[in-house]
Order: sequence, then structure tokens, then C-alpha cells
Amino acid sequence: MTVPILDLSRSFGEIKPEVFSALERIFNAQSFILGQEVKTFEAHCDSYLGVPEGSCVGCASGTDALLLALMSCDVHAGDEVITTPFTFFATSGTIARLGAVPVFADVDAETYNINIEEAMTKITPKTKIFLPVHLFGQMTPIEGVISEFHGRGILTVEDTAQAFGAVRFSDGGILRAGTLGDVGCYSFFPTKNLGGCGDGGMVLSRDPERAERLRRLRVHGSGTTYYHDEIGINSRLDAIQAAILDIKLKHLASWNEERRKIADYYKLLLKANDLHEFVSAPVELEGNNHIYHQYVVRVKSKRDELMNYLNAEGFAVRVYYPLPLHLQPCFKYLGYKAGDFPVSERLSREVLALPVFPGLKAEEQEALISAMRKFFRK
Ligand SMILES: *Cc1c(COP(=O)(O)O)cnc(C)c1O
Repeated sequence: MTVPILDLSRSFGEIKPEVFSALERIFNAQSFILGQEVKTFEAHCDSYLGVPEGSCVGCASGTDALLLALMSCDVHAGDEVITTPFTFFATSGTIARLGAVPVFADVDAETYNINIEEAMTKITPKTKIFLPVHLFGQMTPIEGVISEFHGRGILTVEDTAQAFGAVRFSDGGILRAGTLGDVGCYSFFPTKNLGGCGDGGMVLSRDPERAERLRRLRVHGSGTTYYHDEIGINSRLDAIQAAILDIKLKHLASWNEERRKIADYYKLLLKANDLHEFVSAPVELEGNNHIYHQYVVRVKSKRDELMNYLNAEGFAVRVYYPLPLHLQPCFKYLGYKAGDFPVSERLSREVLALPVFPGLKAEEQEALISAMRKFFRK
């Protein structure tokens, strides 16, 4: 048996006729950039995420979403942005692209998300932004600190690239990933929970003025065509991506629910196979509705041997992420060294992502876990 880390074709069948008719509509119209398809999708995102009309602004990628978000917060050279070293590169790459300084705080060992108390200790007079990541589909519980950051003149930008549709229940309310801070940043890279058929992204701001500014920034800072109020970038969502994402959005809740069921079954299988002394299942923080963009376990020892064994047996398992950002060669100038963020460093040696996607079969999960059992108990 071979089990891929992700097989998008298994969910594509459900939407294929609708996608092909949308493509025909777009090719008949021959209108490809922004336009009505993007407006419709943005409006549906506003209602899906429960934010005022006009809050969601499509753009070209999750990376651009972060860049646009930081630009809309006037982040300039020398400003400091507090963020996590245990994430995909783009989170910090965009900070550095603006000449700003990523200031790292270590993560929580159980959720892999930024340790908020440690983040608070990194505040300096130069801090402009707090940039948490909702990693692997689970929200960072930031609801209590946003106003505290505001009180110190610091805005919050959420990296929601892996968590479109993740929610958190707090004080009787429902909090949606990407809608709590000043700007939320989403990615529609094909492998994300809501993924297009190419690059795509979105920024969200509940502040209408900031949302308007984000709309200008994505078209070279121009409010009226050929008149430029400020210097922006070229970062537009295209009609084909928007139409396909709009179709997929209707399935997202059930697909995310399916990921949760797969996660529950992995947890059960790990327990039933007595693997908990070797492998620990991911922890869902109290109040969180984790949508398992990735199902990431921790392997206490021999992670790489296990990974190589499983890959050789036909089970695609992967490491996200093998080197924390503070130790990346390109960030050497920031002056960090090994040992600075022990939790992140330990996670990079212990984490292992197992396949999780709509359409993954119970037999496939069972076969993978028995291969794991064979490895540890041979
Ligand atoms: C995917 C991802 C991004 C970047 O999104 P792209 O659409 O690939 O540019 C940013 N941050 C995180 C945490 C991601 O997983």
C-alpha cells in the first residue's frame, strides 16, 4: 500500500462539474484579473468569517497577504515584529523584506504555537507588530492580549495561512481565526485547507479604512487608476482562482470536519497500538476547534529513522519544520544561536506530519500505524 501525504484528486471529484462550468463562464467572459468573480468570493468570505462586508481583500498569495498586512500597518526599516521561529519561512521573510526585524519568542511545547507570555517579554519601544501564527490549523489563544498590545501601540497581524475556518470558543463566543487581530492573512496555496489551483491569498481587516488601504496597496497603491496615493505592489487574485475557491468554500466546513475525524482516529490508533511511549499525538488546546491542516505528532527518539522507514514502506510522512527560523542561514545577521529557543529546536527534531486530507481512508491510517508499531516493536 502507498499512502500520499496529500491527494487532492480525492476531493476534486465532488466539485469537478461545477469547476468546469465556472471555467467555461470565465473563458467566455475573457476577464481574468479581479472583477466580479473576486468580488463574489470576497463577499462570501466576509459572511463565512462573520465580518462586515468589505473586510476581505483577495491578493496573489499568503506571502503577499503578510507583506500587504505589514505595509498597511506602516511597518518600516528598523521596526520590530514579535513572532514565532517555528513556522513556514514566509512569516519572517516578509518582515525582513520590509527591512523590519523579526524578534522571536519560543513556542508552546504542546500546541507548537507562540508562547504568549514569552512574547510579552520581547516588547521594546521599537515593537510595532505582534505576529502570531495559527500553526497546523490550531488557533493561538490571542483574544486576551490584543487589547494589551494595543495599549502599548502594537498592532496584531495573524498568520492564518494554515487555519482558514479554525475557531475558538471563548467566554460563550465563537472566535474565528484571522478575524481577531488588526489584519488576518490567509493563503490559498493548493495544499492549504482552502486551496486554489495556483497561488492565491487574502487579507482581512474589520476596519473599513484599513481594508480600503489594503485594496489600494494590492494595485500599486492606486485608488483611482493611474493615480497613486502611495507605493503598493502588484498582488491581485485572479478570476479562475476566485471562482474555484468560491466553489470549495461551500465544502470547507465538511472537509475540515473530516480532517478532525481522521485526527480522532489517529489518536485512537496510537493508543490502541500502545505507541504513546514513543509517539505523542497533537494536543488540542481547551476551547479550540483544530482543523488539522497538518496532523503533527512528536516522536521522542529516532524520528528520522522512523520517517525513512515509513517512507520506504510507502507511507509519505514529512517534517514541518526541520530548522527553526532563528537558525536559518539567511537570518544569521539577527544574531541568534542554537539554544536560544529550546522548545522550537526540540520540536524541529521530534515532529512528524502524517497524511491528513479529505478522502483519506481508515484502512490507510490503520496500515500506517501498524507500520509504525512494527518499527518500534520489531
Ligand atoms: C503557506 C504559508 C504561508 C505563505 O503562503 P503562500 O500562499 O505559499 O505564499 C505563510 N505562512 C504560513 C504559516 C504558511 O503555511
